[in-house]
Amino acid sequence: MQEFIEMAEWLLHQNLQAGDPVESLPTPAFQANGRKYVSFSTNNYLSIATSARFTGAARRGLETYGVGNCESRLLSGNLAVYGELEHKLAGCKKKDAAVLFATGYMANLGVLSSLPQTSKYARIYGFTGAREYTYAYFSDELNHVSIREGIRMSGAARATYRHLDLNHLEGLLKKSTATTKIIVTDGVFSQDGDIAPLPDLLQLAELYDAALYVDDAHGTGILGENGGGICEHFGVTSARIIYMGTLSKAYGGIGGFIATEAHIAKIIRLACSAYGFTSALPPDQAVALSEAVDMVVDEPERRARLWENQRYFVTRMSELPYPLVSTGSPIVPILVGDEDAADALALSLGESGIHVDAVRFPAVPLRKARLRIQLNAGHTSQDIDQLIDTLRVHQHGASATIMSTLGMTK
Ligand code: PMP
Repeated sequence: MQEFIEMAEWLLHQNLQAGDPVESLPTPAFQANGRKYVSFSTNNYLSIATSARFTGAARRGLETYGVGNCESRLLSGNLAVYGELEHKLAGCKKKDAAVLFATGYMANLGVLSSLPQTSKYARIYGFTGAREYTYAYFSDELNHVSIREGIRMSGAARATYRHLDLNHLEGLLKKSTATTKIIVTDGVFSQDGDIAPLPDLLQLAELYDAALYVDDAHGTGILGENGGGICEHFGVTSARIIYMGTLSKAYGGIGGFIATEAHIAKIIRLACSAYGFTSALPPDQAVALSEAVDMVVDEPERRARLWENQRYFVTRMSELPYPLVSTGSPIVPILVGDEDAADALALSLGESGIHVDAVRFPAVPLRKARLRIQLNAGHTSQDIDQLIDTLRVHQHGASATIMSTLGMTK
């Protein structure tokens, strides 16, 4: 016990990231300490979470089913509304089937840790196929932590390729003798905002007979003409793609899902304990999320406003000397480098009523701290002007520190 006390004491003094209490959620306007802010750090990209249509559906679900499910879908908790939501999600992703999870984190952790157990699990139930299967993961170094953890827990062979370095990935695939290879990538990388080159990854998957697992947490509902996500954005469909999305960002609720071929969905339902050995989503969430899936399609003006805001922000930022990562997604980080400088800049913005998270180690490598700007359908051009004007006020102090920590000149 003493060890935990000592560690806690030490960690307390490390200035680690901890969310401050807030009085309302960003829509993107919100309230904290009795003061109004506009957030540029919320995953509620389309401002659906608090919209009347979404909360109205949640209310209907609440009145029909009550608050909690209190049971697993493998037992008596398998309400028809989950199947209806899965059917809609599969349709959006042009896949045979979808499988719901409590969160996106659990979807990654559960599925990636259990897929390589498929043959072991099947043999317990009497599967007698003669072939021995061996599994190997190939994972981008900047993939989300839930991916890295799921892969680690699987016990399968694993190789990490340098961020978006397809030559490196190909070298690793070439060397592998595994019978079942699975390439894993974020669709939109959560801290850098860049978009994975899906067609090129798919080409490699085809060449080396691999599956391609894509975590599209930040692309779901955002990318593509109808918000179908990264596959729609690139116009690709393939049975090799195992698509993972969250319901907690553009869709405005909570939960995660896998959209895939029918046989893989079946395996997940049977062999993935994170699906079956936990309580099902609160039913009001399923009803509300079913509405959100429709909203993403039949309220395209939300997505149009989001992209307009993204373009406006990127254009206006070119007036300022900050190093901006030009990403093509609603996540546009301002690289700062030094952790304290990132904190100081975020604090200065906060004093002007603008909330931006300074993202720092361990979410990103040491000395690669950044202000992760996330554009939102609910931002007005005045909100963005206010952000730019405040950054302009701080540009001289901030940019000197930024340039020196990043070793840049501009
Ligand atoms: N994958 C990525 C890329 C993410 O950014 C996140 C959330 N930050 C998750 C998975 C986890 O999703 P959820 O919040 O729904 O658990």
